[in-house]
Amino acid sequence: MKKPTQEERQRMCTGKRKYRRQGDALDAALLAGVERHRKAYLCPLCHHWHLTSR
Ligand SMILES: [Zn+2]
Repeated sequence: MKKPTQEERQRMCTGKRKYRRQGDALDAALLAGVERHRKAYLCPLCHHWHLTSR
């Protein structure tokens, strides 16, 4: 598995909503009804949590 390029790493972050804590991200997914499809991950770029887009 290849490492993500800088561009790919930025795509993981740019334009995404940031959450301070994993719980916040999961709460947001829950509210949106997408908790089964999305996972929270700790972003290596901004050190906040994001939700996966699929
Ligand atoms: Zn980020």
